[in-house]
Amino acid sequence: MRARSSTVEHHPYKMAVSEFESQRAHNQMSKNFQKRVEDFVCQNCGHKVEGCGYTNHCPRCLVSKHVDKKPGDRENDCGGLMDPIDIEKKGKEYVITHKCRNCGEVKKNKTSEEDNFDIIIEISKK
Ligand SMILES: [Zn+2]
Ligand SMILES: [Zn+2]
Repeated sequence: MRARSSTVEHHPYKMAVSEFESQRAHNQMSKNFQKRVEDFVCQNCGHKVEGCGYTNHCPRCLVSKHVDKKPGDRENDCGGLMDPIDIEKKGKEYVITHKCRNCGEVKKNKTSEEDNFDIIIEISKK
């Protein structure tokens, strides 16, 4: 009976280690996303946007700027304004499809809580 109770005692420790391992794997994966906090003035409507490091579009008019090749890398020198052309609802989140006025590239971006919901609804009706 003693041996049995000792394996039970070991169990929670093993759980904690595997949780730690999966957390570490998760952290390594999210290194691919480079978070940068930056403020910018919207070139479409003049709204001063306070960067949170995740959103790259204006919360007032939802216009974005073509600056990323991969999300967050800021390595695209196109710099064209990207208009929101479509909205998709995914679970509780809305995903905006942006199209670049300059080069025509289409990208998808998640909305943030500060985004103008009236515009989201307006675009999703189109
Ligand atoms: Zn704007
Ligand atoms: Zn572009």
